[in-house]
Amino acid sequence: MLGLMQDRPLMISSLLEFAARHHRDAEIVSRRVEGDLHRYTYADAAARARRVANALDRLGLAFSDRVGTLAWNGYRHFELYFGVSGSGRVVHTINPRLAPDQVAWIANHAEDQVLCFDMSFLPVIKAIWSQCKTVKHWVALCEADALPADTGIAGLRSYEAWIGAESDTYAWPEFDEKSAAALCYTSGTTGHPKGVLYSHRSTLLHAYGGALPDALAMSARDAVLPVVPMFHVNAWGIPYSAAMTGAKLVFPGAALDGKSVYELIEAERVSFAAGVPTVWLMLLNHMRAGGLKFSTLKRTVIGGSACPPAMIRSFYVDYGVTVLHGWGMTEMSPLGTVCNMKLKQLELPLDAQLAIMGKQGRALYGVEMKIVDPEGQELPWDGQATGDLLVKGPWIMASYFKGEGGDPLVGGWFPTGDVAAIDPDGFMQITDRSKDVIKSGGEWISSIDIENIAMAHPAVAMAACIALPHPKWDERPLLVVVKKPGAVVSREEVIAFYEGKVAKWQVPDDVAFVDAIPLGATGKVQKNKLREQFKGHKLPGA
Ligand code: ADP
Repeated sequence: MLGLMQDRPLMISSLLEFAARHHRDAEIVSRRVEGDLHRYTYADAAARARRVANALDRLGLAFSDRVGTLAWNGYRHFELYFGVSGSGRVVHTINPRLAPDQVAWIANHAEDQVLCFDMSFLPVIKAIWSQCKTVKHWVALCEADALPADTGIAGLRSYEAWIGAESDTYAWPEFDEKSAAALCYTSGTTGHPKGVLYSHRSTLLHAYGGALPDALAMSARDAVLPVVPMFHVNAWGIPYSAAMTGAKLVFPGAALDGKSVYELIEAERVSFAAGVPTVWLMLLNHMRAGGLKFSTLKRTVIGGSACPPAMIRSFYVDYGVTVLHGWGMTEMSPLGTVCNMKLKQLELPLDAQLAIMGKQGRALYGVEMKIVDPEGQELPWDGQATGDLLVKGPWIMASYFKGEGGDPLVGGWFPTGDVAAIDPDGFMQITDRSKDVIKSGGEWISSIDIENIAMAHPAVAMAACIALPHPKWDERPLLVVVKKPGAVVSREEVIAFYEGKVAKWQVPDDVAFVDAIPLGATGKVQKNKLREQFKGHKLPGA
């Protein structure tokens, strides 16, 4: 016997229409590339998303055709999220921090028909437009009069002229909720980037899961600042969860420096912000230098790479902001775990709470996870055993776009490439990416642990730990350090700082001081570049 409930497909368009009806005056504020602040409401956004849908119909785009974006977080990008997916096409967000040739490669692979870009990326578009064979329409996200006449780009138009000519009434189609809605390529640290193709269903379920109190806890009482870019895993689903809950949205545009982010948080009374550790480092440095405090910020979700415990402590103890450590990946939409404490942990002493907050957290309902040994045998959840982390669930990828890389699943589970432990309360802790772990004399050293300790040293601004080959131990750790401006610290002092914090054999063999550590397009340390840079480095005793 089937249940007798209505069979309504989960459609992305319904999120924005819900927000427009129930939260019509809730604000969406954007810092524009032009530098000014733009403000409007969910009702305005929905009207303009309908214009986008009409404009795509007029171009004759077919169902599932891809519309690329090369854009910062802002209201026009938000409209494209809903207008493109809502009308049955696929919004394909491209990371503008990639090299122009990679952008062209990705646009070609995705077979984008339309490409919409912020004016700050006009030089990139000028360089690649002739290589993008499938793109027929180029749309600059600006007013008509901001469009230079002599770009040479065939089929270029301004977004405002394009959608301004359309009606703001549109009947959103209903179709199979499993239809493709959004496409995002992984950073491709090995080989070409691969596309992850989200559906309406996966996006809606992820938006529900992400909004829950033990995930990001988003509500109509929040003002949310996604510093995490909309071009990387849909800003962790925040645009969708925000529309679902009616939260005020604050988009930072291109200004991600500490001063700009701080001013936006204060001016727009942001209660919740999301970003990667490297961006928050700039914010904290700015605040420390100016002796500043937050007046409204209550919590921040930090993920994308491990958040150093020193940062969690500083946010919590110095600024009264709870850090929700989160973990996930492009292939997971991306949310897998978020670290929220349980009732029984609320009375624990501060240090014990901070130790929990340093973990990557508990699985959202909808994400199943397990850790396995090299033979694939499941390991216990005792907080000690570490193994390969595997996941499955309705917002986790089944295969890459166009089947690239073959079948990625192992017995129905997606191998994340991360190594983790899970404690009896279900709190997962990443010890490393499997390719970054340091294999010394048959034992594993977690590069994240070694980095976290260094980051707590008062003279260290940033640290990365990599494996170097060693004749006796196979591999030994090298710590690469960027000092804080004006700080003085020696190799010996850094090494001595590890005393009593880790076993002797885990202490880095050497410390190399550098001016900067290479970061990838999503703000993560590029360890492959570091390994290349220090290829010939001789460790003492090696
Ligand atoms: P890509 O895989 O393309 O580099 P993703 O954003 O999908 O980009 O990266 C996902 C990976 O980032 C995870 O598999 C994990 O290694 C790392 N990661 C994400 N969040 C955390 C975190 N909180 N702690 C440690 N590592 C993290």
